[in-house]
Amino acid sequence: MDKYVFEALSAETLPLRLSGNAALCDRIGGEHGRWQVKEVGDGNLNLVFIVTGEKGAAIVKQALPYVRLVGERWPLPLKRSYFEYHALTRQAARDPGMVPEILFFDAEQAMIIMEYLTPHVILRRALIAGRKLPKIGRDLGLFAARTLFRGSDLSMPTRDKKADLALFADNVELCDITENLVFSDPYFEAEMNRHTTPHLDSLVEELRRDRDLKVEAQRLKHIFSAKAETLCHGDLHTGSVMVTDDETRVIDPEFAFYGPIGFDVGMLLANFWMSYFSQEGHESAAGERDQMRAYLLDTAETIWQTFCDEFSALWRSERKGILYQASLFEDRDDPFGAEQALTIVLDEIYREMLGFAGVEILRRILGLAHNADFETIADLSRRAKCESKALKLGRHLAVNRDRIASLRDIRATAERLQ
Ligand code: ADP
Ligand code: MG
Ligand code: MG
Ligand code: MG
Repeated sequence: MDKYVFEALSAETLPLRLSGNAALCDRIGGEHGRWQVKEVGDGNLNLVFIVTGEKGAAIVKQALPYVRLVGERWPLPLKRSYFEYHALTRQAARDPGMVPEILFFDAEQAMIIMEYLTPHVILRRALIAGRKLPKIGRDLGLFAARTLFRGSDLSMPTRDKKADLALFADNVELCDITENLVFSDPYFEAEMNRHTTPHLDSLVEELRRDRDLKVEAQRLKHIFSAKAETLCHGDLHTGSVMVTDDETRVIDPEFAFYGPIGFDVGMLLANFWMSYFSQEGHESAAGERDQMRAYLLDTAETIWQTFCDEFSALWRSERKGILYQASLFEDRDDPFGAEQALTIVLDEIYREMLGFAGVEILRRILGLAHNADFETIADLSRRAKCESKALKLGRHLAVNRDRIASLRDIRATAERLQ
């Protein structure tokens, strides 16, 4: 087959097709006849292979021209691989060591060859198992602050920022998925929606009649689509984080887009709050996961506090873009002006972050893409009990995001919910 025509890899064809790939051969050993290939993609969209040779192993990730979960009747462009590659290179520069090392990229084959993370596991799986990872709060808070600050007009030369804005603006189809699945479909009877039924039927109906919630979801959709502040990861949930006790890595930024600073952090915190509510469904005796629950709320607070601290530190030391220039403040002996602006900027990020967290929780229970935290609770009435508390918190965050003073208050609300 012509080298430039896309062809999906398989475990059988991969060794011969990549036998001449110098980057892969260097990493894992050149004798392709002895490579072992295992397909491990558990995501909804792409093929992921672990390829092991005599010297080592690597990951080969390939996009397909459709959504893997649904099949060919839902086409999705191969170029998402191009956006994933470009997002990974920017994240690697902005927070070194936090994303897998990229070994090779082929746009025609929509293929990224990257470092194989081992013995890392997917954070979501670890949290379902009740495992406490000591470093993730700080690592993820730093990652969010560094990537989001350094990809924005606060930091980048305006020419570079505008060029990147143009590059990622073409990731239309993946933004379209978020625009529909997160902000609109959960709020009406969209065809692919599902929820735990009949247990949640009346609550779901109530939420779909909730005018304030629907208006707020659309305001957030407007911020998502129009507020091109920074390069967001775009899919930063606990299934996009791989961990060991002392390492945290972020993977899978194919949804990368220029959007609001609060989006990634909101999605991330939502997934910790959902994990919190799901714990009850995984305990074999009431109270067994009390410490795990406390850990999850602590970690959400650590992520947010670390984000704020690091964002503030970067504001003071790396604010070299076109906004709030030092020439207006520090250079004129007015450091307080810059601090006043920082408070206002962080407050706006906070309120948007809460809104995005709220709609992320709602869509994971009302929409198409559910998460394993709840889905692995086999007993449906137990699952529904966890989900219904999460739905109430999600609604509260989305609608009251301008009136929630701090994450301490959210902790109290979460602990009180029935
Ligand atoms: P998708 O875009 O289809 O969701 P992901 O990039 O999330 O694909 O990868 C799917 C799965 O493959 C992950 O959940 C993880 O188990 C595994 N995986 C992906 N990248 C790596 C990596 N660099 N090292 C180890 N495992 C990986
Ligand atoms: Mg994924
Ligand atoms: Mg680090
Ligand atoms: Mg993905």
